[in-house]
Amino acid sequence: MDADLWRRIGSDALALLLAASCPGCDSSGTLLCDACRMLLHAEPHEVRTPQGMLVHAALRYEGVPARAIRRLKEDGATMLARPLGAALGDILRRTLADALIVPVPTSRAAFRRRGYRVPDLLVRRAGATAHRLLVPARQTGDQRGLGREARAHNVAGSMRAARRGHGPVVIVDDVVTTGATLDEAARALRAAGFVPVCAVALAATPRLSETARSMSTVSDMSVHGD
Ligand SMILES: [Zn+2]
Repeated sequence: MDADLWRRIGSDALALLLAASCPGCDSSGTLLCDACRMLLHAEPHEVRTPQGMLVHAALRYEGVPARAIRRLKEDGATMLARPLGAALGDILRRTLADALIVPVPTSRAAFRRRGYRVPDLLVRRAGATAHRLLVPARQTGDQRGLGREARAHNVAGSMRAARRGHGPVVIVDDVVTTGATLDEAARALRAAGFVPVCAVALAATPRLSETARSMSTVSDMSVHGD
């Protein structure tokens, strides 16, 4: 390539960077500032799905991590999959070494809108292999704004396994809100012969950790639209 072209690419990249702002604190000229990057380090904690499956979560879905995840999911900021994937990788490495890692499937609508599958991308950036054993079986309504019961009803029967198989699997999702999606994934995998041992989520909403104590009124901050 000639020098002119390189210069143009260089100035385009610079323009992009100058137009960028940190998802965590809005400071300009950076895709993620150092202070906010520190807040994306995994803080491992555990939550349970409605069916009682153990979920190992890397981050709490609030503050800087929540804003970074929203920017990855809704604004196409795929470069954020690297630091977020690193946090997920910290947790994935603690789970069963011989289990297949199975991402929750992305709806066709979400894939068309984004052009990428968020859980799969995070697993790859975590340095692991995503086994796409689950596919959407039918269209689901938007999970946003639905309560716990309605979410479970909305996702029931929404997934199926692409093939039969056996052995341990670990289910991965980006954000776990009530855990209904993970329970549905486990059901579909069990029906095809696999043995779901646990789930791993990049982030869990504070609401999920609180449901054991209070079933009530924390407002729904989920962006989980799949
Ligand atoms: Zn920042």
